Amino acid sequence: MWKKIKARRLVREGKVSKDLENEFRIHFTVKGDKDIHYVIYDKIKNEFSCDCKWYSLKKQECSHILACKIFMKNNLYQ
Ligand SMILES: [Zn+2]
Repeated sequence: MWKKIKARRLVREGKVSKDLENEFRIHFTVKGDKDIHYVIYDKIKNEFSCDCKWYSLKKQECSHILACKIFMKNNLYQ
């Protein structure tokens, strides 16, 4: 799946960074190929959202969200 491949590459290349974390949310910045996207993880709802076109049109997990999930799983963010 292209999304997963792209997400893994984003993490590997260090394009994902955690900006801010509080008790409700975690804010991430993902540097895509063309644009920078902002991903928010809502701890209360256990939901991710992203500001990219893909996510806003389809309301589906985009490569940026996937990248943040991998990033969190790797525990690189702490
Ligand atoms: Zn996105």
